[in-house]
Amino acid sequence: MLTLDAETRGELWRRLAEAIERYAAEVGEARVAPELDFEEIRRALAPFDFERPVPPFEALDFAVGGLWKWQVHTPHPRYFGLFNPAPATMGIAADALVAAFNPQLAAWSHSPLAAEVEQHLIRALAGRFGFDPARAEGTFTSGGAEANHTALSTAVTRAFPEVGRRGMMALRSQPVLYVSPQAHHSFLKAARLAGLGTEAVREVRVDSRLRMIPEDLADRIREDREAGLAPFMVVATVGSTSAGVVDPVADLARVADEEGGLWLHVDAAWGGAAALVPELRPLLEGTARASSITFDAHKWLSVPMGAGMYITRHPGILERTFRVAAGYMPRDGAALPVADPYAHSMQWSRRFIGLKVFLSLAVAGWAGYEESIRRQVALGNRLRERLREEGWVLVNDTPLPVVCFVDSGPDGRSAAFLERVAAAVVASGEAWLSTAVLGEVGPALRACITNHRTAPEDVDALVAALGRARAAAV
Ligand SMILES: *Cc1c(COP(=O)(O)O)cnc(C)c1O
Repeated sequence: MLTLDAETRGELWRRLAEAIERYAAEVGEARVAPELDFEEIRRALAPFDFERPVPPFEALDFAVGGLWKWQVHTPHPRYFGLFNPAPATMGIAADALVAAFNPQLAAWSHSPLAAEVEQHLIRALAGRFGFDPARAEGTFTSGGAEANHTALSTAVTRAFPEVGRRGMMALRSQPVLYVSPQAHHSFLKAARLAGLGTEAVREVRVDSRLRMIPEDLADRIREDREAGLAPFMVVATVGSTSAGVVDPVADLARVADEEGGLWLHVDAAWGGAAALVPELRPLLEGTARASSITFDAHKWLSVPMGAGMYITRHPGILERTFRVAAGYMPRDGAALPVADPYAHSMQWSRRFIGLKVFLSLAVAGWAGYEESIRRQVALGNRLRERLREEGWVLVNDTPLPVVCFVDSGPDGRSAAFLERVAAAVVASGEAWLSTAVLGEVGPALRACITNHRTAPEDVDALVAALGRARAAAV
């Protein structure tokens, strides 16, 4: 029963391909978000008691129907949400192939093509970020959170080499790292899991555009040192999750250097794609001086989840952070100038993450991505213009297509009002957007162009839906 007969397989693949094609072609006609009814979902699942096997086509139909009905359709051109893309066609094909061939990316010698494809991509992207591709090292991760956790672990390894063996308890002073209040929350999780504790994550003040203030960073580092703490890492964000803020990386790199060579990590999970567009590349100024970078291909490179990357210009640091000896691991590659993926990452057995990036990039080329990202940036500008015309007030300042705004009316900045507006748009099924709290700027509506299939009409439809929601919410 685990391998179906040839005839059934043929029919299954045909139906599967049809379901995938229909979703890609018709998702734009669906409601963007479903109504949330967990009881209905549980009722639908109840008959699956696994006592009575279900015929394969029936099982497939259940999954296809359920996915159509019960998910926020992030591939929908009117999904203006978090950084979840419509997956690139070649990425979908890649993930199906990977499931079928099931390469094992723990040991290099088990999957040499897969391991080399991933390293080829790491070098190619490292070059785009201004690193020397010949010296850069990196690993694919489940996503940005794991990449950020990897960054924290490598920074700890470099600053406190004894921790790997003897643990944090071996240290005389508490290690601390610096982030902006707009940084991704995965650093809090990473600090907790690494045994540093969340209080080790120090927030640096930001300016009126929510960018980290380099002078405040320097002051905080000195104060903490005087208080007996051990600063070891600074995190700059290029394209923050809420508001697309780009920290002044070059200035932060200078502070990190002056303060004794702290590890500078650039979290460019989404915004890093700006490196592919010449006129946006200045946003990444200073990134080439970073010790490490997080980049998520499952965001602006539009590949299916999850496809994160950690890239560093410190050769050997991954090995020192992650290698442990395991007698059962194959050693066929030991004499070759290659790295076993398991010795460079948190994961052990893992899937071939890089193929969906490789095939998408091979077919679109840098030029295809450049054009797609440029178009999305232009749509972000269109959205800003249309919102202004309709009396909304923009409250974030970024060239990236994430737009935060409030209403100009008396109640226009109240969280309750903004949440009512967002909820009404979502409930209409016509579009999806969210709210975010931007530090001292306060709550705002947040709409992000993150989908290569979004068109000008979709932006206009969002603005129209917002207008109706606002009228109903006052
Ligand atoms: C999305 C995001 C992350 C987390 O990445 P995942 O892929 O969701 O794990 C980290 N940092 C930033 C800036 C992000 O936008």
